[in-house]
Amino acid sequence: MPPIPTGKSEKILLAPYAFHCVSSRGRRYPEAAHPYRGPFQRDRDRIIHCAAFRRLSEKMQVFTAEFGHYHRTRLTHTMEVVSIARTLGRALALNEELIEAAALLHDVGHPPFGHAGEKILDDLLKNEGGFNHNGQALRIAEKLERRYADFPGLNLSWEILDGQAFKIGKKGSPLLEIQVVDMADSIAYDTHDVDDAMEMGLLQPEDCLGTSLWKLSATKIRKRWQNLDDDLFRQLMIRDLIDIQVSDILAATQNRIRTANLSSSEEARTVPILVAPSAEMAEQKGKAEAFLFQKVYRHPKVMRHRSRICSWIEGIFEFYRQHAELLPRRYAPILSAEGTDRAVADFIADQTDRSARAEALRTQHDQPRSPIEAVL
Ligand code: MG
Repeated sequence: MPPIPTGKSEKILLAPYAFHCVSSRGRRYPEAAHPYRGPFQRDRDRIIHCAAFRRLSEKMQVFTAEFGHYHRTRLTHTMEVVSIARTLGRALALNEELIEAAALLHDVGHPPFGHAGEKILDDLLKNEGGFNHNGQALRIAEKLERRYADFPGLNLSWEILDGQAFKIGKKGSPLLEIQVVDMADSIAYDTHDVDDAMEMGLLQPEDCLGTSLWKLSATKIRKRWQNLDDDLFRQLMIRDLIDIQVSDILAATQNRIRTANLSSSEEARTVPILVAPSAEMAEQKGKAEAFLFQKVYRHPKVMRHRSRICSWIEGIFEFYRQHAELLPRRYAPILSAEGTDRAVADFIADQTDRSARAEALRTQHDQPRSPIEAVL
């Protein structure tokens, strides 16, 4: 690939149904092309260098830091999504740079404490349109990040923002590159949550026989290697689970693309979702997810954390609702344009698990942030 994708190079390297950079609708605030980076490469760099992305390293995926140091954080989950998505994208001859940027952005809007944190913020904001991590990623990209003098947000390419908009209810089908990111997200969490839960003892190796998808993988591995210890067995199984899902999605998607006879990326937006598992795999995946939900996400140890997390977030929210003047100065424009609740929610969503916990303890004792912290 030449440093900057050109119409000619993309025609050779990408499928006709891939999104070609030359067709990009550009950015909300027009900018000159970069001398040696393509538009999505530039988007990727903007996301990686933004504060919200860095904070993912201290935001939980399913388990907080108190569970140990083996499990995924929101950042390492994101990197696994990027890796799987690029594999799918390259095999389908799609635009890998668009895929990478969209995957890096996909969880940037997550508040501290994962879905528990998101749910309580959504409840607290029910009169203000609610809170959703996918919508928050768009707020961050378009408004909240302050890194450029000429525009608010990151001024990402239209295609990246459009892809994120499908996650909050935009109708129709997104570009195939965005569909790939959605599937990679699902493969990543379905498999790494099994790994993390087993490491913590929330799932036992014999639980692998509980669903047909895991059983298939476990049986295959036990047959090939008879004397594996539990740890190595688990690693081989996780690897195999990713592999069989990626291979299934690739085969099923290639079939659908062939049948749809697509000749452009725009045509992919006019037909139902094409990047998806086979019907059989979708059923197995659904059962495995239901099993994970019951056994892991609703595990008493996880639920105990959940109630603590809710009271922390409620406490911070109430405190700053009463003391909006103590919010860092950068929330002033949100306070005046969108009101206290939204500004407080933006502030909370910006916290990491650790800083949210510190805020909760401090606000419980009615201790305001120090003048230095108030500026940050
Ligand atoms: Mg995700």
